[in-house]
Amino acid sequence: MEKITNLCKRRGFVFQSSEIYGGLASCWDYGPLGVELKRNITEAWWRDNIVAREDMVGLDSAILMHPKVWEASGHVEGFTDPLVDCKSCKQRFRADQLSGPKCPECGGELTEARQFNLMFRTFMGPVEDTASTIYLRPETAQGIFVNFQNVLNSSRMKIPFGIGQIGKSFRNEITPGNFLFRTREFEQMEIEFFVKPGDDADWHERWKAERFAWYQRYGIRRERLRLREHGSDELAHYAKGCADVEYEFPFGWSELEGIANRGDFDLRRHSETSGKDLSYFDEETRERYLPYVIEPSAGVGRPLLAFLVDAYDEDVADGEERIVLRLDPRLAPIKAAVFPLLRKAGQPEKALVIRDVLKQHFLVTYDQAGSIGRRYRRQDEIGTPFGITVDHQTMQDDTVTVRDRDTMEQVRMPVERLATELRARLAPSAPPPHDVDGAARAAVE
Ligand code: ATP
Repeated sequence: MEKITNLCKRRGFVFQSSEIYGGLASCWDYGPLGVELKRNITEAWWRDNIVAREDMVGLDSAILMHPKVWEASGHVEGFTDPLVDCKSCKQRFRADQLSGPKCPECGGELTEARQFNLMFRTFMGPVEDTASTIYLRPETAQGIFVNFQNVLNSSRMKIPFGIGQIGKSFRNEITPGNFLFRTREFEQMEIEFFVKPGDDADWHERWKAERFAWYQRYGIRRERLRLREHGSDELAHYAKGCADVEYEFPFGWSELEGIANRGDFDLRRHSETSGKDLSYFDEETRERYLPYVIEPSAGVGRPLLAFLVDAYDEDVADGEERIVLRLDPRLAPIKAAVFPLLRKAGQPEKALVIRDVLKQHFLVTYDQAGSIGRRYRRQDEIGTPFGITVDHQTMQDDTVTVRDRDTMEQVRMPVERLATELRARLAPSAPPPHDVDGAARAAVE
């Protein structure tokens, strides 16, 4: 993990928040490369889960919501973790994460556990009293539930269908840590998929298979992924069943995404609390019912960390050790780097023209500093899949070499073919959104 955190800081993927003031615990900022990687992950998710599917639409709801939302959802009462204090060193811990009865830091005695609500509270408007208390949302899901009728009335969606959204969530975690894994401010990519009661078990299986396959489609190796079913003692109060997609991080197997069958819990609670009927009328069967919900709920930081960990490699190139991030080209922050072999003979000018043309299609960088080997390695370390070199021959026949990050093989091709060729290599392979019974399911087994 230390190698990853060092690389993240050194190359501008992730910085500590407010670092010049000593940092703010468990908050992180994405630097120039990190923000590209994050965008590529969220765009891949959006493309595969919203754009490519007939049965999904998107939403972007506000972070601040009516306080009644969190009463109805059960968060005010139940979104808590058991908190204990050490009587000696005063540190605080989550009781359910401790292995023994003593303080893990100093061996001191611990207080009785008490329930600590993880929602951040703030005030709306100029008066700071209980009437104006609101919460920063701890999940994006509730924004989807409260808009269920709006989406139904304004679109032509019919059950089964889903609503997806990507956005920030906040949890005042007692013990954050492991870099991006557990933070107090984070982003989520969530789907609420509405189905007819009775069809829920089947849709739950399909979504587990689809989401499990998704991580592999973007390069995470199969042996570091597993789908873990929750035991009945672990299930959240609303859930009929839940499975986590877990990744084997350097600190152990940990959750990337939870895929829960929430039954009709949320729509029922919001119907009761708001007094608005959130049921669905099925025109084909002439039945009215409260839909059941399947919820694939992923973070962004955790998958991003998993993609980085999985891609990180060290090998030897031209007799020299190199660090290489073997990121899927679709996720790589920078798609190609253009280098003049020499800083003369018109090569830099030619390379800059190539960069500018390619920049119309994707993020491309230019580098003329240092030996060509060092320049390749600088790009390998940040996962740039293609290195394009302008050399003596370019100036004669308008061809360049294209070096592949992983194989280090170089092929020569005409400049005019570059954009088409690289675009083809970077094109998203068509996801099998509806083929969840076949390919995706096989991937789980
Ligand atoms: P955990 O048990 O690890 O606290 P959770 O089961 O409470 O996680 P969910 O409520 O299912 O998490 O949230 C869905 C997803 O949101 C998680 O799978 C994870 O990717 C992400 N997530 C949740 N909490 C955090 C956090 N504090 N920091 C970063 N990502 C988070």
